[in-house]
Parts: sequence; structure tokens; C-alpha cells
Amino acid sequence: MPKSIPSRRQVLGVAGALGATALAGHALAADAGSAAPAHAPPAPAAGRVGKIALEEHIIFPDFIDYLAETKQNIRPDLFDKVVPILSDFGERRLATMDANGVDMSVLSISGPGVQIEPDTAKAVRLAASANDRLAKEMQKQPRRYGGFAHLALQDPRAAADELERCMRDLGMQGALVNGETNGAYLDEPRYEVFWERVAALKAAVYIHPGNPPAMAPAYADHPELWGPTWSWAAETCTHALRLIFRGTFDRHTDARIILGHMGETLPIQPSRLDSRFPISNQRYTLRRKPSDYIRDNVFITTSGVFSDSALRCALDAIGPRNVMFSIDYPFEDSKVACDWMDHAGASAAERQAVASGNAAALLRITR
Ligand code: ZN
Repeated sequence: MPKSIPSRRQVLGVAGALGATALAGHALAADAGSAAPAHAPPAPAAGRVGKIALEEHIIFPDFIDYLAETKQNIRPDLFDKVVPILSDFGERRLATMDANGVDMSVLSISGPGVQIEPDTAKAVRLAASANDRLAKEMQKQPRRYGGFAHLALQDPRAAADELERCMRDLGMQGALVNGETNGAYLDEPRYEVFWERVAALKAAVYIHPGNPPAMAPAYADHPELWGPTWSWAAETCTHALRLIFRGTFDRHTDARIILGHMGETLPIQPSRLDSRFPISNQRYTLRRKPSDYIRDNVFITTSGVFSDSALRCALDAIGPRNVMFSIDYPFEDSKVACDWMDHAGASAAERQAVASGNAAALLRITR
């Protein structure tokens, strides 16, 4: 790495200097709530569509130190407010869902979690412990909470086994991975064992943004671009493209990935990817056009992008069954996200599919 570019650990040390953030303006003034009795989702209010949301975050006390990695990306005062909200599984989270017509939230650990844990045995142990705790919360609210498994990709076979345990024994809907794991991307050959299991389970793996181990030179002197404003989209879309161009979906045709934030810019790329790949310096061969994998193996969510024009582009480019509602709670405002979904510029059938139908089909959610 160039000497002038700070490493991940060096960046953590200057976290307090950062400015604007995507957290600004959302409902963060909350404290942890108490446990709530199990209840069913209320009937949707007039004009609302029932929703399943897929990028809805939680934290456990022993994961807060990992979450501090994201202090480099958001304002420190907002970071301190978000921890109690992430820690709440009770009335406050359910009341926010009820008020906005969210029938079910599929919960996941707010990143990066064990993706940055250097000790593999500790990462495996902590991920399993977190999944057990999440499963207990799901059992308390079986009609309201689902879960994405937290996986220690430091050990690909252990991660595959844990994914299977979480789906078969704990009732989870798939996995959410917070970007690369200690610099390793999921297209690397050692992850073949993981993708084999993903395909066998017909599972979906949500690739959520995270910071790479080192900051690229393009972000020097621009902390506002380092994080949710921009760098996370570029990093996460690149991760997905690494999987596509290394033939992951030729070898594992039933594997599915999910990208948040309206596909991390992917919906506008298929034409250029198809036309420029043949003239590129190719290391890997593909059986089909890049856009074919984007339509068959990639699903996206609306988390943090509540825009009619972006939705139209995504439905047309990725596919009408591949776009699913999400909020990115509590980093985005649930009311803004849900009010937009209820009246999004699409047909009534498209709105219903995006709000809940596509997620129910992909993740085999029965309600
Ligand atoms: Zn998120």
C-alpha cells in the first residue's frame, strides 16, 4: 500500500475529524426499549402496502467495539446515539415498524462485526453466539423478526456449516456479510466450499458495505466521500462484480446475492459491462454475458435510495422480481422510506412485489 494512504487501523485513530453523514436527519432520539410480548402485525392503514424489510440492523454488546470501525464514516455524536437504538429488540423497534406498515424485519448485525476479527477461532465462536442470540429474539416475535446469519468467513467451511445451521435449525433467511473479511473477497478460490453450500441451500447472501483494509488515494482529503455517501457503493458493487467476472455463478448457478442501496449503482451498468468485457484483458472466462448473471443471480434492495427514477431503472435493468424493499434501520428514516414505498412511481403490482412479494419468494418467507 502507498505510504501516504492510511490503513484501516490508522483511519480509526482520526475518526473524530469526520463531517457530514447519511445519518443526519433521521429519528435517532431513542433509547433501548424493553422486551415486548409477541404480536402480529397490524392491518395496513389505508393507502399503505405491507412490507418486508431486509437491511434492518441490530447490535449486541460484544459487537460494539467492531461497530466503532464505522466511526471513520459517520459523525461521532450520531454514532453514540445509534447504539441504543440498534440494541433494542422491543417496543420501540416494533412501534416504528407498526407505524410504517412494516410487517417483518429480517435483522442483521450492524457492520463490520467479525469480518475484521483477526483471530479466526474467536470470530467463529462469536458469530455462532450472535446467531443464537438473534434466534432467541426471532422466537419472541416470530411473525415480526427474521434474521440473516452472521458468518466468520475467516474459515470458509465453518461459515458454510454455520449458514446451514442458521437456516435449518434457527429459521434464518440467509446471511449478511459486511464486505471483505480481513481483505479477502468472496470470489477467491478458498470460498468455493462456501458458495457450494449457498447454492445447495438455495440461500441468498446479502453483501453489505464495509470499509476495505486501506483507503484508496481517490478519497484522500475527502472524508465526506469515505463511507455511505460514496465509497461504500463503489466497494460493494466491485465486490459483486468480482463474483460475477470470476465465474462464481457459472459454477454455482443457484447461488444468489443481494445488494442494498438500489444495487450500489449496478442497475445502470449492464450495457457497458456487456460491451466492454470482450475488449478487456480477461483473466477469467464467462459462459454468458455479464448482464445475464445480473438478472439471474443478483437481487437488490431499496435501502437508503427512496427514488422513483432509481426504482424504475432497477426494475427495468435488474428485473421486476429482483428488487425488494428495505430501509437500513436505524441509519435511514423509516417514515421516509415507507411513505415513499407506499406511493412509489410504479404500478400497483410492482409496488406490491417490491414491498413484500419478491422478498417472500426469494427468501421463502411465509406469513
Ligand atoms: Zn446497512
